[in-house]
Parts: sequence; structure tokens; C-alpha cells
Amino acid sequence: MATKTFNFGPGPAMLPTEVMQQVQTELLDWNGTGISVLEMSHRSKHFLSIAEAAEKDLRELLSIPSNYKLLYVAGGATAMMSMVPLNLLAQGGTGDYVVTGTWSEKAYGEAKRLGKINLAGTSKAEKYYTIPDRNSWKLSADSAYLYYTDNETIAGVEFVDTPDVGNIPLVCDMTSNFLSRPFDINKYGVVFASAQKNFGPAGLACVVVREDLIGKAGPQVPFLCDFKIYADNESMFNTPPTFAWYMAGLIYKWTLKQGGLKSMQQRANQRSDRLYDTIDTCEFYSNPIDRQFRSKMNVPFILKDDALNDAFLAEAKKNGLIELKGHRSVGGMRASIYNAMTMDGIEALVSFMLDFAKRHG
Ligand SMILES: *Cc1c(COP(=O)(O)O)cnc(C)c1O
Repeated sequence: MATKTFNFGPGPAMLPTEVMQQVQTELLDWNGTGISVLEMSHRSKHFLSIAEAAEKDLRELLSIPSNYKLLYVAGGATAMMSMVPLNLLAQGGTGDYVVTGTWSEKAYGEAKRLGKINLAGTSKAEKYYTIPDRNSWKLSADSAYLYYTDNETIAGVEFVDTPDVGNIPLVCDMTSNFLSRPFDINKYGVVFASAQKNFGPAGLACVVVREDLIGKAGPQVPFLCDFKIYADNESMFNTPPTFAWYMAGLIYKWTLKQGGLKSMQQRANQRSDRLYDTIDTCEFYSNPIDRQFRSKMNVPFILKDDALNDAFLAEAKKNGLIELKGHRSVGGMRASIYNAMTMDGIEALVSFMLDFAKRHG
């Protein structure tokens, strides 16, 4: 039995050990209240202080100005795939979509049911191994927003920069790379992320939305899909997933303590460089993604011989390296290496990979 387990799962994914320990310490008695956050009213002053701290810390991490609201949506990023067209197309216009992988394809499919949608660009013909050049995108004349997915978790492709679409509101699914690097929120209309990949338990999405995009939903929109209901009720129109929200807040604080997003970016570069270098220099392994768009969060790799996949996974598991199986649509392996993954975990994986290659190459 390995003494330490490193979890390379894509999500729900590993969380920082310090945060898990804090949760454990506080579980039965939060801050001397004698009760657990699990048992706490969302309207109590205790929970309100948790929500306020989370708001303050995320605003600090991302330098969010006052004309942006923070919403917490149960239903995760998937709920947002419906909510975006329901909120932003009711007053007319076309939703433009750039499809670069499974998640943007899913969002595009859902939006097509709900409004007038245009496929502005896609790398489907390239098997999602790359990102279509901005100059090739065909935006609608009456574009209401441009939707894209910053990091495609399954194929492992990531945008390098924020695309420039002028005054058209940019809508971004940042689920699998939120808080992994700095970005300028002022360039966006809506940024959202499910917590389960990089900053908390499953089931919750954090949404940052510019004020002028709130209050535009149509009259038929269910109240739990309306940005305005969340904004007007501090995301407490219904009983929110309080424990997930609390843990997201602890992760924000942890991220600040680690030096913020610049530091997260440095570490992500260090982790992913080490893995890609290993893949590129050991001919036993390969990664098919266009180098400039290789994800720093999800690193897929293929073994020289697919027949060795099962042996690789079984031996990796024996060495405490789990959840390395690639998505069924892609095959091979995938190491998801979010903020909580340590260099110890990366070094353990690299040693195992080199040793496996030597024995089976
Ligand atoms: C996982 C994931 C989603 C879906 O998240 P849910 O929490 O299941 O709604 C959406 N987009 C991206 C990029 C993801 O990685």
C-alpha cells in the first residue's frame, strides 16, 4: 500500500489538505458557535459572515470592481449553460458560440434549443486538438454575446489569452481553470465556474456577472434561472448549498494565503511543464494537442501501445496514483492537476511513468 494517494481525477477533484483539515477541525463546532456549518441557517449572522468573507476574498483575488455581482448557483456550470441564453437572448440578438470541445459543444447544443444561436467557430474537424484562430470566427451582426470555454477539461485544450470581441459581452465557462491564473474580469460580461474542479465540492457554480446583463430574462424564465433573482436576494432566494459555499470561501482564503493567482499560475506552469516535458522526451508517451494550447490543468497522454493501458492504471494505483484513466471519448490517460496538486504528486507520477516506460518500452 502506498502511504500517500495522489488523486488525478478531473472532478470532483482533490482539494488542498490544509483546507480539508480545517474543515475537519471546524466540522462539529464552527467558530465557537457549538454547531456545524452543516446545521446552520443560511440567514444566521454566522453564515452571513461566511458569505461576506467569501465575497470579499474572491473580489480581492480577481480584483472585481463594484459593477460586477457575484452569484452562487446550485446546478453548477451545467445550469449556467441554460441560464446564459435564457438571460441574455430574451431581448433579441444572437448568441455566438465557439466550440472547442465537449463542454462548449454541450453548451452550444443547449443554447440552440433556447434561442437564436450561431456557431462562430469550431475545432471539431481537428478533433478539438486546437483552438480556431480568432480571425476565423464569424460573429453575428446582432451578437448578444460570445460564449467560449476557457479550458476544455476532456481534450485538454486551453485558451492562452482572453479573446478580443470588442464590445460584445464575453461569456466564459472557466470551470476547470478558474483561480489557476490571473485574468482581467473587466473584459468579460459573465464568467462562471463549477466549484468541483478547482475550488470546492460539487453542485455549486460561482458566477461573476456585469450589472448591465442582469434583469434581461424573459417573463417565462423560471425564477431559479433568472440572474436578477440571485442578484436581488444575495443568492439566497432558495436555500443555497451552504456547505459548498463555505468550503469555496475557505479555498479563496487559502489561495490568497498562497500568494494569489500569480502564484497559482507559477505553480500550474511548473506542474504542467514537468509533465509535458516527460511526455515529450519519453517516446513511450505522447500528447496530441497543439502545443500552444496545451492545458495546464488537464494533461491527456497516450501510451505507445493501448494494450498496456490496463496495466498502467493498475500499477499506478498500486503506487497511490489514482484516477488517471482518460475520458471514454478520448481514451488513453489524463492527469488532472488543479491548484491543490503538489509537485510531490507530479514527481511521483513522473517517476512512475518513466519506470513503467522502461519496463514496457
Ligand atoms: C465539469 C465541467 C462542467 C460541468 O460541471 P457540472 O458541475 O457538472 O455542472 C462544465 N464545464 C467544464 C469546462 C467542466 O470542466
